Amino acid sequence: MTSLETYWASLFEDRNEAWVTLMLLFISHEVIYFGRCVPYLIADQIPSLQRYKIQQKTIQNTRQNQWKVFRYVLLSHFFLELPMIVGFHPIAVHFGMTISSIPFPTLSKMIPQIFFFFVFEDFFHYWAHRAMHYGPLYKHIHKIHHEFSAPFGLAAEYAHPIEVLVLGIGTIGGPLLWCYFTHDLHLITTMIWMTFRLFQAVEAHSGYDFPWSTHNWLPFWSGSEHHDYHHMAFTNNFATSFRWWDHIFGTNNKYLAHKERQKKERLEKAVRKTQ
Ligand SMILES: [Zn+2]
Ligand SMILES: [Zn+2]
Repeated sequence: MTSLETYWASLFEDRNEAWVTLMLLFISHEVIYFGRCVPYLIADQIPSLQRYKIQQKTIQNTRQNQWKVFRYVLLSHFFLELPMIVGFHPIAVHFGMTISSIPFPTLSKMIPQIFFFFVFEDFFHYWAHRAMHYGPLYKHIHKIHHEFSAPFGLAAEYAHPIEVLVLGIGTIGGPLLWCYFTHDLHLITTMIWMTFRLFQAVEAHSGYDFPWSTHNWLPFWSGSEHHDYHHMAFTNNFATSFRWWDHIFGTNNKYLAHKERQKKERLEKAVRKTQ
């Protein structure tokens, strides 16, 4: 048994399982979300990294905006996500999730489960997000998330409470469905999935496209460059993790034309330099 498993068992020993689950989920969410934003906040202070900013002309990652978004997101975590997390334990147990038992599932069991959660969330998010661009829904709900046309990491969860609730279904729906049909899912796998999901969301909003950013070594990954365009243009690129749904449903046409234009401009610039 690994030391992590022993630690996990000790966390639950003689304690209320629902309470420990609540603390684990809430604290890990805070640490991972804000912790993932830190490298980007540091990057903001390093002039040589500014050439990796996707939008060079629109600067919205000002201290004032970051502070405003930080306060909004923190309030939303306490007054919206915390109650959602309170409801998580009874629902998860009802659907058959393993919570405190050890050993943890093997990697070969976890990987396909997490892959399924990614695919489920991406598909759900694609359609829910597309729906939120429909007139009244956009005006009353989704507009808040689009306040920043050049987003930054902290703004990943900057959204109307209804949007947080609806899109949260995509994140937690995969694990619950999996539980319902297989009765074979551990809380630790769900937590690893949520960690990846938070990493994905913060990276997508970071506003930076570094050479080491995920989509540069995983071409079907959406990443920052994909979602940044959505914020800049208020259309196209509705998916979260993968590029395939936007490609299949043709909601990447303007984005592809934009990329083509950028490519042409770069080429013309290079030609002018050599003349
Ligand atoms: Zn949108
Ligand atoms: Zn966004």
